Amino acid sequence: MVDSVLTNLLLNFLFIIVGLLAFALYYDFTKKTPSKGIVIFLSTITILLCVLFSHELTAGVYVDLRRIPFFLASLYFGPIVSFVLMIVIILLRYMFIGSGLIHLVILNYFITFLILAAFSKGFLRAKKKVKMLFTVVICFSMTVFNLVFGYVYEAEISRDEYIYLVLIPLAATIISVMIAEMIRKLMMMRRTLSQHEKLQVVSQLAASISHEVRNPLTSSKGFLQLMREEKDEKMKKQFIDLSLKGIDQATHVIEDYLTFTNSTPDKIERINVKHSIVDLIEMVKPLAQHVSFSYYLIDDIYVDGQSHSFRKCIGNIIKNAIESMPQGGELSVEMMEDENLVIAITDTGLGMTKEQIQRFGEPFFTTKNEGTGLGVMAANIIVHSMKGNIQVKSELNRGTTVYIELHKSLKIEAG
Ligand code: ADP
Ligand code: MG
Repeated sequence: MVDSVLTNLLLNFLFIIVGLLAFALYYDFTKKTPSKGIVIFLSTITILLCVLFSHELTAGVYVDLRRIPFFLASLYFGPIVSFVLMIVIILLRYMFIGSGLIHLVILNYFITFLILAAFSKGFLRAKKKVKMLFTVVICFSMTVFNLVFGYVYEAEISRDEYIYLVLIPLAATIISVMIAEMIRKLMMMRRTLSQHEKLQVVSQLAASISHEVRNPLTSSKGFLQLMREEKDEKMKKQFIDLSLKGIDQATHVIEDYLTFTNSTPDKIERINVKHSIVDLIEMVKPLAQHVSFSYYLIDDIYVDGQSHSFRKCIGNIIKNAIESMPQGGELSVEMMEDENLVIAITDTGLGMTKEQIQRFGEPFFTTKNEGTGLGVMAANIIVHSMKGNIQVKSELNRGTTVYIELHKSLKIEAG
């Protein structure tokens, strides 16, 4: 008999812990605080299990922990949840235990509901110790209520049995509130942590933008100042050109960063891959005399996307390849075709260490003094928006190949 009371109480406690765990897991998976509906659902299941494993001490006196999920849900989620669960508890009590003394149960839970509703706002703001004290007082008063009426109705309860009726529920309540508080704290910590991360990204982004924009603008300013003192018309014109160049460069930088915030998708075009790549290479060739270029490109292959983004993506990868060969080397661009299209951009430059390969594409990861660490990330975003992917193979001091895999645009049959 004693064993089975204890077993049932422990089982009850297990259900409550599993319920709390389910709550935490829900948050973990969805990153959202469960809605009131889900809280009611989880609590109802927990309460149902507690009622099913309720133990009848003597005629009409039942021990279980069904009030704990009711407490927790009421205090953390407010009066609406509390009211629904009160109805649930009364109904379940009626269905599974019977109508004996049901009026007392209704009275007991209704009074508790009123108290919990009155205090639920203040509860959330209270310190942990106050919370614990409050739940203990409520739990204890509910028990006293039961005992008084048990006494009035002459239920026979032995002294040992008070342990089950009073002490164990009290201890279980304290532990449950502690676990609930722990979960709440973890949830809050995680929220502030991700906010902190976002803030860090924003401030890094702001720093690198201002750095890249300020440099060309400062040089423009310098040339404009020189122009003011310059008498020679020819020189004046040259200064104007140079300052315009600085402004242009700053504009480019800003445009580049807009890749990250560009949420309005432009019109999707069919891009001729070979033409885009040849254009790009012809454009950068004069700027990288120390590098020899070779390419193997296939005619008439198209991909769907935004032409300027696609060029930007390939351009970023080619720029990195050139920058990895300060002493010169070979850069080759190759197209391979099967079901998908793969563009391989290979250099014979510095290469990367294992750690660098792992961080390839991470925002702000750069090994260059003047680097932004945003080029690969931008390329990645663009390729992903085209439903493709980027992979990299690299060996330190030997070179790097970046593979860009893309879906081919379906050919439009003539006629
Ligand atoms: P940035 O070029 O401004 O440094 P990226 O995002 O374009 O930023 O590149 C990030 C980092 O990845 C580079 O600093 C470099 O360390 C590494 N990386 C990228 N491409 C290559 C390459 N072809 N060879 C060697 N290292 C590369
Ligand atoms: Mg780069």
